Amino acid sequence: MLVIDPDECIDCALCIPECPVGAIVGEEDVPAGQQTLVTLNAELAQVWPAITKPRKPLGEAEQWKEILGKLQYLER
Ligand code: SF4
Repeated sequence: MLVIDPDECIDCALCIPECPVGAIVGEEDVPAGQQTLVTLNAELAQVWPAITKPRKPLGEAEQWKEILGKLQYLER
């Protein structure tokens, strides 16, 4: 899971078509049942380290990409 710092984002939307699993949507397009993720994204963006260089996906990314309901595994 990655988050986007809403204070740094300029809403250019370039990342939306680039995400290979369609995980990025504009804030106005977040489904009603997932609005809490907007707040969670902002909170985590303040404490998680910024990624400043391209990185390979984590080894298990392919295995997890179609699985829903992963929020229960988030460690904070
Ligand atoms: S690419 Fe995505 S995260 Fe980056 S500024 Fe544009 S909309 Fe924001």
